[in-house]
Amino acid sequence: MALGGLQTPDKELERLAAEHGPGSVDANALAELRRERAQDKQVSAYRLGKFVVIGPEPSAQDELTFLLANEATKLLNPDDVKRMLGEPSEVVTKDERMTSRIWMCTSCSEMVVSEDPRPVPASCTRCGGIAFKKAG
Ligand SMILES: [Zn+2]
Repeated sequence: MALGGLQTPDKELERLAAEHGPGSVDANALAELRRERAQDKQVSAYRLGKFVVIGPEPSAQDELTFLLANEATKLLNPDDVKRMLGEPSEVVTKDERMTSRIWMCTSCSEMVVSEDPRPVPASCTRCGGIAFKKAG
């Protein structure tokens, strides 16, 4: 589809998140992607200029918005992007990172426990799954 160049595959997002480290746009987008998927939402990551937007597969009309937004984001701030794309798509910023002391893998129920609240794990050490939900 026309968005092929904009949709960021999970593997690519994971690679970028690892490369850019915690707190990067990519790491935050990956965390958001997992949070949405943990709520059984069918969402993907879409790269719009320097931002990553998490949302459902776009309609044909959305595609046009995305393509225009991709160009426009070179000049816009996150609030502008959010306004253009509307809900439920979301622009992930550094401040919106979700943390938890206990994350549960939605595939195998493996628990990842830490003393301090941590961002969602990169992947499940037992099954390699990337979908986690807060368990504490
Ligand atoms: Zn697992």
